[in-house]
Amino acid sequence: MTMPQKLIPLCEPYLSGNEWNYVKECLDSGWVATAGAFIPRFEESVRSYVGATHAVGVASGTAGLHLALLVAGVEPKDEVLVPTITFIAPVNAVRYVGAHPVFMDLDPVTCQVDAKKIAQFLEKECRIENGVCINQKTKRRVKAIIAVHLLGLACEIDHIFTLAKEYKLKVIEDAAEALGVRYKGRHAGTFGDLGVLSFNGNKLVTAGSGGVVLTDDKLLADRVRYFATQAKDNPDTFYHGAVGFNYRLTNLHAAIGLAQMEKVDDYLAKKKRIATFYDEALSQFPELSRVLNGPDCNGSHWLYTFLLDRNQGLKKRDAILKQMHQERIMARPLFHPIHLLPPYKNEEFYAINEAPSLFERGICLPSSVGLNEADLQRTVATLQKVL
Ligand SMILES: *Cc1c(COP(=O)(O)O)cnc(C)c1O
Repeated sequence: MTMPQKLIPLCEPYLSGNEWNYVKECLDSGWVATAGAFIPRFEESVRSYVGATHAVGVASGTAGLHLALLVAGVEPKDEVLVPTITFIAPVNAVRYVGAHPVFMDLDPVTCQVDAKKIAQFLEKECRIENGVCINQKTKRRVKAIIAVHLLGLACEIDHIFTLAKEYKLKVIEDAAEALGVRYKGRHAGTFGDLGVLSFNGNKLVTAGSGGVVLTDDKLLADRVRYFATQAKDNPDTFYHGAVGFNYRLTNLHAAIGLAQMEKVDDYLAKKKRIATFYDEALSQFPELSRVLNGPDCNGSHWLYTFLLDRNQGLKKRDAILKQMHQERIMARPLFHPIHLLPPYKNEEFYAINEAPSLFERGICLPSSVGLNEADLQRTVATLQKVL
């Protein structure tokens, strides 16, 4: 009988630094909950790494997106532009504040939201009336764009930011997958009115769970902290001035996050080596193309993704994934287009013609920082079997 092969997960945490020491400090001192010295230390390590003015730790990236929309002034019945292919969290956050997503298409080479189509939508479908942007078809106010940086690459954030200012929109950058990603030399998440990072288990750096909201505006940073802490105006009298949330980061999570942030450059170097290995190995298959950085983007290679060519598709993709899973290799498809999912199938979308094909042709390969040469070779060999 053959031994079952080692499982190769898609993207798992790599804990090799001060995690034990810092968590032990929390346990020894009793500071395990939502106050403690690791929280500001973690926030500061992230803030200085990305070069933002303010960084507020929260319980998750999703919580951060919710609060970012709230403090950006997105209100019930407003519209928010979002890419249809992304992890679903930013879209759900739009609904948490009672607003509606308007789904946008992706660029077929970079797999990022197509900024040219955002421009077209605003120009053709919207008008500024009394200083606010109105969607002429729905008569609703378009209030914000969530610019998602997908897969460890960057969307065209400066173009999007310029459009947003022209049309009086707020920009929230979802940089959950983009720690270590730079666009024109500046870190993703620091262009918009607010940016959100995630420290979930599958991200480049994990805190177990956690998020950080970035902004250059002190007022917005204070508002995020306020709403994350039950909108508590006075802790002695339990005076709450608004409906808040319990979205705080704990000291335990911050302790892990800080230990991981100390290693971020090592992790980026490791991701780069993984991407280089896959690039070389995949160059033997002319029917595959790697999802590529735009010219202004310096990516983190967070999740290595390739596309099958246009005359292949779902069948080939599923055959590859099936073989991978049989051999305990956790490759996976690109995110499902969200405008086709049950909770969102009645929402608006604009000029989407690339996203469904990208979904049928995209495959993400295992990209954990801890992968070794043998794991990478096994993954490529399995791919080779099907192709
Ligand atoms: C992971 C992720 C999130 C959500 O972050 P959590 O910390 O898991 O809540 C949001 N957006 C994108 C694009 C993500 O990949």
